[in-house]
Amino acid sequence: MTAPAADGPGPRSVGVSQRNIGESLSFDLSRPGRVGCILPDLDVPEAELPVDQLRRDLTLPEMSQVDVVRYFTALSTLNYSIDSGFYPLGSCTMKYNPKINDDVAALPGFARVHPLQDESTTQGALELLYELQGCLAELTGMDAVCLAPAAGAHGELAGILTVKAYLRDRGEDRHRILVPDSAHGTNPATAAMCGFSVGSIRTGADGNLDLNDLASQLDDDVAALMITMPNTLGLFEPGIARIAEMVHASGAVMYGDGANMNAIVGRARFGDLGFDVVHMNLHKTMSTPHGGGGPGAGPIAVKEPLEPFLPTPVAARNPHGVFRLMAPEHSIGKVGLFHGNFGVLVRAYAYIRALGLEGLREVSETAVLNANYIKERLREAYRLPYDRPCLHEVVFSGSNQRAHGVRTLDIAKRLIDYGFHPPTVYFPLIVDEALMIEPTESESLENLDAFCDAMLEIAREAKESPEVVKNAPHNSPVRRLDEATAARRPVLRWRPAMADPPEAETSGGRGHPTSRPG
Ligand SMILES: *Cc1c(COP(=O)(O)O)cnc(C)c1O
Repeated sequence: MTAPAADGPGPRSVGVSQRNIGESLSFDLSRPGRVGCILPDLDVPEAELPVDQLRRDLTLPEMSQVDVVRYFTALSTLNYSIDSGFYPLGSCTMKYNPKINDDVAALPGFARVHPLQDESTTQGALELLYELQGCLAELTGMDAVCLAPAAGAHGELAGILTVKAYLRDRGEDRHRILVPDSAHGTNPATAAMCGFSVGSIRTGADGNLDLNDLASQLDDDVAALMITMPNTLGLFEPGIARIAEMVHASGAVMYGDGANMNAIVGRARFGDLGFDVVHMNLHKTMSTPHGGGGPGAGPIAVKEPLEPFLPTPVAARNPHGVFRLMAPEHSIGKVGLFHGNFGVLVRAYAYIRALGLEGLREVSETAVLNANYIKERLREAYRLPYDRPCLHEVVFSGSNQRAHGVRTLDIAKRLIDYGFHPPTVYFPLIVDEALMIEPTESESLENLDAFCDAMLEIAREAKESPEVVKNAPHNSPVRRLDEATAARRPVLRWRPAMADPPEAETSGGRGHPTSRPG
């Protein structure tokens, strides 16, 4: 593979107009008096419209139609998405999803149904919810499902509140939740939001939970262990049955973070592994494209004793075959509007039914195969902190490259020059200079090889010409963003005659490593 030039025109500089777009606002292209369309002469009495007032108060860019079209077309090409390239963002499962599932969700009978319609007119939609609950119960090995939560973190919140209500009903007042030190940040955040104190359990040198540390912290004040399966190192926890035994013996609940279900779908079930509650991220595993902050779904599945405490509503079928939305007997109540993000649920149902169990098994098999392929191709160049077969993702450390003054953030930025979305970096927190790569099942061998070639080339550059990597990206419309300032002090308002570019866009800043798994 030839390395993109360190400076000068890169693949993004397709045309002058596009190259400038990254640095321009539409206001910069404005020319007084220029218009996008020509209106006929007025043939009625002139009247003052609110819009005239608005026009006086607002400064709007004055542009021709073709400039507007080119401006927005060029902007649209700056957006990296799964439809434009490989997106190996670990823990996020940025896989390609069949477009037909979007088509199904857009069918008027689904897209135009209103949640306040009489149930007699929405039987088909309710049946879909009921059937999807059944599919997810079967795939997780659980007894009951609530589809209402709108994201993974939201599912965690609903799940832990359900656990709290269940324990209280048993007359128990427990105050602590245990979370492994490798966990996604949402786990301890959820526990804290639900009023629990958080205890951290160590991960051993082998990548498994340290059972001695767990044993020493488990007591009758612990409400639950929240554990990700497979864990955030992409590893299966071989001690999971023993862990469940220990947790249950202390009277606590096993909470499963099932956001990484792409690794095990159709092959291992949370219920069989000893979990009592699990949330899933349908927007990761089950065919909703995500990444732009769009809608998601984080259903929770529980074992029977927790069913009465689930959020409302849950879809049910009465003995006459009529579908209804019901409130579980001791429900914790509503966690959002209506029944969650219906369009996401339709996509998940279409996806599950189209693939069937065999197809879903192929998903997890290929996802795991692809991650292990990348692990083997890159192992000579990048340090593998946990050298054992991985599941759907592989975690490397950039510590070899650090010896040459190149940091993981630099490697991630250099990948942009090669046309790839960077992997997740600096997560999990327990891995020094972490690079977390999740290829997913939807990439061909050629795509995986192209990515690995780029990673190997960057490792060579780190040794031979570290400055090229340290100053990357060279070919993108913007260079190094100061991500910390951009998040803390965003400049969202255009000011006329702005002397300097907005601070958040200053290039060259050494941003904090804030790339987080989503
Ligand atoms: C993505 C993820 C979450 C959070 O899911 P959101 O839908 O982003 O709220 C929680 N845990 C793990 C392990 C994840 O990968």
